[in-house]
Amino acid sequence: MPASGKPTALGPIALGIVGVGKIVRDQHLPALAKDADFRLAAAASRHGKVDGIPNFPSIEAMLEAMPGLDAVSLCMPPQFRHDAARAALLAGKHVFMEKPPGATVSEVEHLKALAAERGLSLFASWHSRYAPAVEAAKTFLASAQLKAAKIVWKEDVRRWHPGQEWIWQAGGFGVFDPGINALSIATHILPPMFIARAELDFPANRDAPVAARVCFRTDNGIAVDMDLDWLQTGSQSWDIMAETDRGAMVLSSGGARLAIDGRAVHEEPETEYPQLYRRFSEIVRAGVSDVDLAPLQHVADAFMLGKRNVVDAFYD
Ligand code: NAP
Repeated sequence: MPASGKPTALGPIALGIVGVGKIVRDQHLPALAKDADFRLAAAASRHGKVDGIPNFPSIEAMLEAMPGLDAVSLCMPPQFRHDAARAALLAGKHVFMEKPPGATVSEVEHLKALAAERGLSLFASWHSRYAPAVEAAKTFLASAQLKAAKIVWKEDVRRWHPGQEWIWQAGGFGVFDPGINALSIATHILPPMFIARAELDFPANRDAPVAARVCFRTDNGIAVDMDLDWLQTGSQSWDIMAETDRGAMVLSSGGARLAIDGRAVHEEPETEYPQLYRRFSEIVRAGVSDVDLAPLQHVADAFMLGKRNVVDAFYD
């Protein structure tokens, strides 16, 4: 039993969901509807609502009215995550955080320490790590000698993030919002790496980048280049390529498909969010946290080290 005295071992976890927007509707609600380990008990959002459960205008109102909640899932944009997570931890709740886990590294470190101090579980979720072919890629790379790697993550922001203003604001990450998904996979399957150079393209009217080129080096000097672009129309690219002594690996479709020397070796339907909730249930019941900050640290480093270019203004 955690220090807060809340039981975690028995029955479904009573969950409150916060920030009811696109990802809650697309992924969290369908995954929770099929997961017997959770009972969705309440929602908190300024405008969004979830049918059939009590809805509150803020997390504070929800925490006060629903003392029986065991955990919360925080799905608002990252700039607004820390205050909500802190309030939930202080109220004795376990916390699931959408990616990216926060707007800064230090605020997430603070939450990690607070969760540990209170005996609660904090989950910094990285959904792309649960894409179907990621573990197969990790296994392949562990058996091969890496010569070079390339990450190409190019998508159409107008298609995937229509009207989302927060994503263009400071702390909204811009093209690193999808790019951090690539980094969550890369930091899981590739050796440790560090940024050597970066260039970030900021639209003249925005505070977050629309494209970026980042050159990493592993500790033995292997190049890992990352190319992020948010203006790609037509076919979309979410690929990680690696040259190895055992052949050329392509992990494509955001981690869904693995090919070696052009031959598909792993392809399955994705179940990322059901697996995220399985993992959250596991860590709550085990009384531990799962907070890997490596992807967020790389994004912070890219903003710290990267050269800033000003490019054409962006309009929706
Ligand atoms: P979204 O729909 O724009 O935002 C989610 C909800 O957060 C909004 O509907 C809003 O609900 C609430 N919110 C917005 N601004 C807020 C503020 N200032 N303070 C408190 N709440 C605020 O965004 P989303 O696409 O769901 O993304 C949310 C998070 O999920 C992001 O971190 C994103 O990276 C991650 N994610 C998104 C996707 C995707 O495909 N969209 C995929 C994976 C992960 P109310 O107005 O009702 O408060």
